[in-house]
Amino acid sequence: MKYKYLIVGAGLSGLTIANKIASELNEEVLIIEKRSHIGGNVYDSYNKDGILIQNYGPHIFHTNEKEVYDYLSQFTEWIPYEHKVLSSVDNKLVPMPICIDTINELYNLNLDEEGMRNWIENEKVDIKEIKTSEDVVLANAGEDIYNKLFKNYTEKQWGTSAKNLDSSVISRIPFRFNHDTMYFEDTYQGIPKKGFTAMCDEMVKSDKIKIVLNTDYKEIIDEIEYETLIYTGPIDYFYDYKYGELLYRTLRFVSETYNKESYQSVAVVNYPNDYNFTRITEFKKLTQQKSDKTTIMKEYPGFNGEPCYPYPTKEYLDKFQEYKKDMDKENNIIFLGRLAEYKYYNMDLIVKSALDAFENKIKSD
Ligand code: FAD
Ligand code: UDP
Repeated sequence: MKYKYLIVGAGLSGLTIANKIASELNEEVLIIEKRSHIGGNVYDSYNKDGILIQNYGPHIFHTNEKEVYDYLSQFTEWIPYEHKVLSSVDNKLVPMPICIDTINELYNLNLDEEGMRNWIENEKVDIKEIKTSEDVVLANAGEDIYNKLFKNYTEKQWGTSAKNLDSSVISRIPFRFNHDTMYFEDTYQGIPKKGFTAMCDEMVKSDKIKIVLNTDYKEIIDEIEYETLIYTGPIDYFYDYKYGELLYRTLRFVSETYNKESYQSVAVVNYPNDYNFTRITEFKKLTQQKSDKTTIMKEYPGFNGEPCYPYPTKEYLDKFQEYKKDMDKENNIIFLGRLAEYKYYNMDLIVKSALDAFENKIKSD
C-alpha cells in the first residue's frame, strides 16, 4: 500500500488534518484507528433506548476562535447551548464555577458584588508564587471553598492531591464576582445538531480518505509506504517507552436509563465529596432530544482503559520533555493532539493546532 500521508488516530486531530489534505491538496490519505469507530473521544451514538449519548463523557464545543467555529460549521449545524453545572455540596446544589450565587447559597448569605469581594478578601490565602492547582484555589477563594468544592473532586479525578498538580488544571475554572452561572465564557458554544459522530463523518466524506478501523498502527505500518506520518496516539507508545511510561488518567463510563422524562435540572452535576464517581451527565439536557426516557452517565476515574487526560504532575511533564527532544528531531513526522503532545487540549485547540500544522508543515512543503 502506498499513501503520501499516513495518519494514526481518527480523533478530531487526525480527522481535521485528513480533511484538509484531501479537500485542499486532493491527495490520498490513509487513517489507521485502533478503536471500532472514528471520532476518538468525541464519539457519540444512540443507545438501545434511542437516546444519543456521548460514549466518552460530556462534550460541549466552545471557542473564541472564529476560524475554528467557521471551519467546523462546514460539517454541522449547531444546537445553541449554554452549559451549566451544579455541584452537590452540604445537601445543596450550587453553581460551578464559583460566582456570587455559589457563595450566597453555600453560606446562606445575600452578598452583592462588593460583598463578595470583601468576603473573598477575608478568605483567600496569600500565596507568593502560584505553582500548584491547590495554590490556585487557596489564592482565589480560600480554604473552605477549596475543601468543599475542589479538594475531593480533584483527588477523585486525578488520584492525587491538587498540591501535586500543575496550576493549569484548576486554572481552567474561572472565579467570578458576578451572577454568571455559565460554565464557559466563549463566544461560540454549541452541540452539533446531529451529534459529534455525524459531524466527524462529514469531515472525512471523500474518496481520497481511506480509514482502517480496529487496527493498531504497529500491526500494519511496515506494509505501508508513505512520505509523511501524522501521529495522534500516545507518545510513549510511539517511542516504545524508551524514556519510560507516561501516565494518562482514564475514565470508566457507566450509563443508566430511567423511565422518566428528566433526571436532574442541568446537564452536569458534580459530586465532589460523595461517591466514587465525579459527575453525572444527563445527555438530553445537552442534546435537547425529546423522549419519555432519559440516560445519565457517571464517570469513575482510574488508570486502566483508554487514555483520556495527560497527567500534569512534574514527574510526567519532565518525562514528556525527554520525548519532546526526540519529537523535535523528526522531519517527516507531525505529532498532534492530546495524547501525542501530552497536553490538556479542548476540542477547539485540537482543531486549531491541526489547521495550523496543515498550513505550516504540509501545505507550505
Ligand atoms: P483522541 O480523541 O484521543 O483521538 C486519538 C485517536 O487515536 C483515538 O481514536 C485512539 O483510539 C487512536 N489511537 C491511539 N493509539 C493508536 C494506535 N496505536 N493505533 C491506531 N490508533 C490509535 N473538549 C471540549 O472542547 N469540550 C468538552 O466539553 C470536552 N469534554 C471532555 C470530556 C472528557 C471526559 C474528555 C476525556 C475530554 C473532553 N474534551 C472536551 C477534550 C476532547 O475530548 C479532546 O480535545 C479531543 O477529543 C482530542 O482529540 P485527539 O484527536 O487529540 O485525541
Ligand atoms: N474541579 C474541581 N471541582 C469541580 C470541577 C472541577 O475540583 O467541581 C477541578 C478538577 O481538578 C478538574 C479541573 O478542576 O480536573 C478542571 O475541570 P474541568 O471541568 O475543566 O474538567 P474536565 O471537563 O476536563 O473533566
